[in-house]
Amino acid sequence: MTIVIGFEGSANKIGVGIIKDGVVLSNPRRTYITPPGQGFPPRDIAKHHQARVLEVTSEALEQAHIKPEEIDCVAYTKGPGMGAPLVCVAIVARTLSQLWNKPLLGINHCIGHIEMGRLITGATNPTVLYVSGGNTQVIAYSERRYRIFGETIDIAVGNCLDRFARVLKISNDPSPGYNIEQMARRGMKLVDLPYTVKGMDVSFSGILSFIEEAAHRMLAAAECSPEDLCFSLQETLFAMLVETTERAIAHCGSEEVLIVGGVGCNLRLQQMMAAMCKERGAKLFATDERFCIDNGAMIAQAGWEMFRAGHVTALEDSWITQRFRTDEVEVTWRG
Ligand code: MG
Repeated sequence: MTIVIGFEGSANKIGVGIIKDGVVLSNPRRTYITPPGQGFPPRDIAKHHQARVLEVTSEALEQAHIKPEEIDCVAYTKGPGMGAPLVCVAIVARTLSQLWNKPLLGINHCIGHIEMGRLITGATNPTVLYVSGGNTQVIAYSERRYRIFGETIDIAVGNCLDRFARVLKISNDPSPGYNIEQMARRGMKLVDLPYTVKGMDVSFSGILSFIEEAAHRMLAAAECSPEDLCFSLQETLFAMLVETTERAIAHCGSEEVLIVGGVGCNLRLQQMMAAMCKERGAKLFATDERFCIDNGAMIAQAGWEMFRAGHVTALEDSWITQRFRTDEVEVTWRG
């Protein structure tokens, strides 16, 4: 029996989760939400996390009915992510590991998403589409690494959606992407937007610039509605993601596709990916907002796999890093 507590705070959510041998015992989370039209500066997020991390930790322990002495390992997000929030959460993990006298383990956030997706869906060897506010990658496992087959060459798909939401002053509560998804369902007209796939890579910054420049002009001229713009942006961005994922599964001969990351709970993205998978005889796996949006349990789950494979992080190595690529970690826990 191995029990791991995981601390996540690389972006605007602070989460603490406890995993016991493949079972999520608790996974509370708080989200830092700003008014419409505004983003979230790292300094403000760090203050948010700092103010809530202890209450979320107590909640995780209480809900799991676990005492600190029963925990085997304290896992935390080492990176990638925003510097100030990462530091704030790492300090708490480091302090608790010393107070409780438990080993510490720094986790790659992207690998947390992948391992949580595999646990929740039961996918065994999927090609992974990882889509969030900070990351966009097509990943497949090969020879002890999660290899990156394609990725964004500029901003993440979720960042493109979030910043578009600011242009139209769409609410950030519960998330800009969720509100765009609801509005897109009422879209009737497909507005022509740039489509930028370069080999296996994708680019979103030009699409964002285009729509930032054109949105108010088109709306003023009654060429389309805000709902049409939400619909058109989703259709265009998601088609790019499905195209690159399709090429990866064709190359790998994959029979499974797993979508992880915050944008992964978008049902339209899941629907488009499912249509492609059906044509290729592949199976689509996805999770809901509890597990695909950043959370503590995903860090605990990656920690559980790594701790059992013999990994620990020495106190002097327990730093954080804003840049930490998925393929930097040797995957020693998969056969
Ligand atoms: Mg994430």
